[in-house]
Amino acid sequence: VDTTQYRASEHSRVSTHADRASYDRDLINSILDGASYCHVGFVSGGRPVVIPMLHAREGGHLFLHGSPGSRMLNDIVSLPLVCVVATILDGLFVGPAVVDHGFNYRSVVVFGPATAVESISGKRQALRALTEKAAPGRWDLTRQPTDAEVAATRVVSIEIAEASAKTRSGGPGGSEEGYPGAWTGVIPYSLVPGEPIPDPSVPPGAQPPAGLLHRLTT
Ligand SMILES: Cc1cc2nc3c(=O)[nH]c(=O)nc-3n(C[C@H](O)[C@H](O)[C@H](O)COP(=O)(O)OP(=O)(O)OC[C@H]3O[C@@H](n4cnc5c(N)ncnc54)[C@H](O)[C@@H]3O)c2cc1C
Repeated sequence: VDTTQYRASEHSRVSTHADRASYDRDLINSILDGASYCHVGFVSGGRPVVIPMLHAREGGHLFLHGSPGSRMLNDIVSLPLVCVVATILDGLFVGPAVVDHGFNYRSVVVFGPATAVESISGKRQALRALTEKAAPGRWDLTRQPTDAEVAATRVVSIEIAEASAKTRSGGPGGSEEGYPGAWTGVIPYSLVPGEPIPDPSVPPGAQPPAGLLHRLTT
């Protein structure tokens, strides 16, 4: 077993622009960890559906959480396979011709079975990973969930059974003819936090948590 690569089958191996594909575990993990949220695709009642939500990776699993009433979290644990996609948009490249425009990106497609996490300790571990992913440092700085709150939350773990990454970077390249006068190049994109807006209950002059801001911007 190759521990440096994720497995890819005939269904999960990239064929279109295979030169942009990678199955490297570290690269795939870094994209899963860097993407702020994911999209979960599954078949429900014979219809395909894709739902956006927060994920957190631990080892070779992804955690999802939500309300016990979540149709998605209830459905996926009875399915043999779900699909999770995580995307980081890195930029827009604009070339000399319309066909020379596109995005720079890092994306991952995962396939695997989903199982419910039932134990309070297992759920607590997943909730900590999800909290630290979305709001780094907040788990230790705020009131942690009670056992009743944990029990009232549904947690699902998805095994990363097959995974692929696809990445595109660099300039537009472009048609041989060119188009004199047209600006060509790359406009970098990144998701950055804005100016914090204090809740009305916060005393005037109180500073937002420096650790959180630092970790969200680095
Ligand atoms: C932000 C963004 C915008 C894009 N815009 C376009 C667009 O406008 N037009 C376009 O044609 N393509 C676009 N792509 C690329 C797109 O995601 C597909 O890779 C591409 O369309 C080929 O699809 P396919 O079904 O032929 O792939 P195939 O190579 O046939 O897919 C086979 C398997 O490879 C894996 N795979 C496919 N695509 C990806 C991926 N992106 N990341 C990780 N694994 C993958 C999956 O497991 C899939 O089942 C975009 C990608 C991103 C991230």
